[in-house]
Parts: sequence; structure tokens; C-alpha cells
Amino acid sequence: MIRIVSADAVLPGDREPIMGGAVAFDEVGKIIDVGSAADVVARTRGEVQAVKGVVLPGLVNAHTHIELSALRGKVPGGTGFVNWVEHLLSVRADIDPEHDEESIARAVDELVGACTAAVGDVTNSLAAVDVLRARGVTGWAFYEAFGVDAATAVSRAKDVAAAIESDRSMLRIAPAIHALYTTHIDAIRILDAAVRERPMLTSLHLAEHASERRALESGDGPVAEWLTKLLGDKTPAWPRKSPIVYADDLGLLRPDVLLVHMTDARQAEIALAHERGSPFVLCPRSNLYIEMKLPPLLAILAAGIEPALGTDSLASNTSLDVLAEAAALHIRFPQVAAHRLVRMATWNGARVLDLPLLGRIAVGSAPGLVHVECPVHPDAAASLLAAVKLPRKWLVRPDVPLVPSPIVHVP
Ligand SMILES: [Zn+2]
Repeated sequence: MIRIVSADAVLPGDREPIMGGAVAFDEVGKIIDVGSAADVVARTRGEVQAVKGVVLPGLVNAHTHIELSALRGKVPGGTGFVNWVEHLLSVRADIDPEHDEESIARAVDELVGACTAAVGDVTNSLAAVDVLRARGVTGWAFYEAFGVDAATAVSRAKDVAAAIESDRSMLRIAPAIHALYTTHIDAIRILDAAVRERPMLTSLHLAEHASERRALESGDGPVAEWLTKLLGDKTPAWPRKSPIVYADDLGLLRPDVLLVHMTDARQAEIALAHERGSPFVLCPRSNLYIEMKLPPLLAILAAGIEPALGTDSLASNTSLDVLAEAAALHIRFPQVAAHRLVRMATWNGARVLDLPLLGRIAVGSAPGLVHVECPVHPDAAASLLAAVKLPRKWLVRPDVPLVPSPIVHVP
């Protein structure tokens, strides 16, 4: 049975809104037709439902840490990364968020309730993987290792590399390096070798804040002092290079490594990463929360990059709603067309996570369809971003086969 939904505006995700648009889709949500309501109704036979407001594809949150959800509201921000992470580590020791199943389940419900179809979820424990799969959320679980002490980091990296999923399940597991300054070089090499072994994606926090640059480039500042305090004379030598140049030296600027944050990246570094084909994932609300900074969105767009968006964790954000990231950017970068920001929360996310059937309303895709009953002005994408607090409803969930596949090895 074909259903046709017409709306004040259809936001396809990968292009400009269609005012007075309609979408035709089959019983599993595969898109049969999209265009102006008059054209779609003339071309396609089906039951027509007219709704007020906008219709858009399911959202893609390209960077989360669902397992930290019990830390919501527990880690204060605004005073820089080192203060934030020290606070996080002390609270985390008490709360043990990875074992708080209720908070994880609630977070995944919130994610699905915000109409999220897919995630790039970073994990240290795989604690959220089964819940995400059970709720039909697809994408990647980036199984992360870090540690600056060589022996511990290497043993952890070997465990992580051994846990790679062997088949193509709906939420795939891939090894990931936390960040270049938190992961021993030997562990970085093990994780990267595991990623290169087969076609997969990975994720790397890069150029998140100025103290990361200062440590890697000059070996001083808050990050270097923090690690020296922890490790004393076992602190590894600093590379004396900028985060992006160091990543390039390690061969980590390439199309299968998502660069998350890039908040502290400079124009020439953005251009270098783009030249290497690196996908970008921005987390503006997390950057504002921790450092009170915004990613250099205009320079990134001027370089020709189409960034995706992520919420980061509830330890540095108030919600897991990736559309709220687009709305936050809309307020602060009014010169960027609203539909480009919606694209970052939908199609750009699907593209960087290698999920070509999601993130856009296009014939043949099955992104899930979302309805928001909001007042629609001539700029329909801006109308949606202004209505970010209004309820959203799935008209149809994405057509993702539920194939929970066993984890090969969990250490
Ligand atoms: Zn993160």
C-alpha cells in the first residue's frame, strides 16, 4: 500500500525545502516519490493524508556517548576542558554510568523520541549497544580506547581491536582512538591497524580545545600539566606539532576517520583535512558547554566541507537532540541558510556514517519520516529550527532490518 503525505513544506534533508510538498512511500517507508503535492498526487496512486507543518527525514546524531547518560547535569562546564574532564572522572567513579541501565534506556528512548534514525555512538563499555539495537537505532558504536600509560593503553587497545564485529549488523562496532593526547602512540597504532584491516569507519576527537593544541605543540598548558600530575616522569614526549599536522603524520586524515569537534582548527588545517577527505562532525552545544566556544563553522563551509552534527554526551549537553545543535547554530550564524543546518543534522550525518539510505527524502531511500506541526513561514527550514522544542512524531520509522548480531568478543 502506498501512502502519500502532503505538508506545508517537505524538508528533503539534502536540498532546499519544497513548499506545499508531498512524499509517497510504501509500507516499509521506502520513498516512492517526492515533490510538489500536485505533482506527487498526479504521478502516484495512494491514500493521501494532509498534515500541517513540515515533514523531514529521521535525524542522524553523528557523535554521542550514550553510556554517560547518568551524568546529565552532574558535570559543570564553562571553565575549560581540563576542569570539566577532572570533574567528569571523579563523578564517573562514584556514579558508574555504564552500569546505570535505566539512564541508558531512558537516553535511547529520548533519542528515538527526538526522531533520531542513526548515531555515531562512542563507547568504552558497549553498554548501550544492545539497547540501541533493540530500539532500531542504526549506525556505529565506536569502541574507544585511551590511556597515556603505555602498558595499560596497549592492552586495552588489543582488547578493543579484538571486539570488532565480523558482519554487517545494523549497529556496527569499530575500534576508535579517544584523542591524540589521551592515547599512547603504541595504542594509537594498534587501533588504527585494526581499522585499516577491513572496510569500516572510526572516530577521533580532534582539535577540541586550545589546551590540546598547546600540549601537542609546546608540551605545556593545562593538558600537559594535568597529565604530568597524573604520570610524573612517565609522561610521554609531546610531538611538538599541531593536532591536525600530527594526525596527518600518523595517517589519520582520511575519509574513514571522522574528525569530531575541530573547534580549535585553523583555516590552513581545515583545508589540509579537507584535502585528505576527512569527514567533519561538529558538536556546538558541547563546545559551548565546556569551553564557551563555537566551532569555526564559516571557515569550514567556506572550505567546501559539509559537516555533520553530534550532541556529544549528556555530561556536556542538556539533550541528545541533534536538531537542537542545528538550531543553536542558526541563532549564532544567521548568515548560514537554515536548510544547510538541517542538512547537517540529516543527510550530512548519514553521509559521514556511510548510511546512504538514511538522512534524506529521495526516491529509493528509507530514512524514516518525521512530522512537526509548526507554523511554516517562507523559510520553512528556519520555521523548523524555531520549533525545535515542539513535539515530533514519526510517520514511519526507518526501514532498517533488525539484525542483532552477537559481539564477537567482549573483554
Ligand atoms: Zn565526544
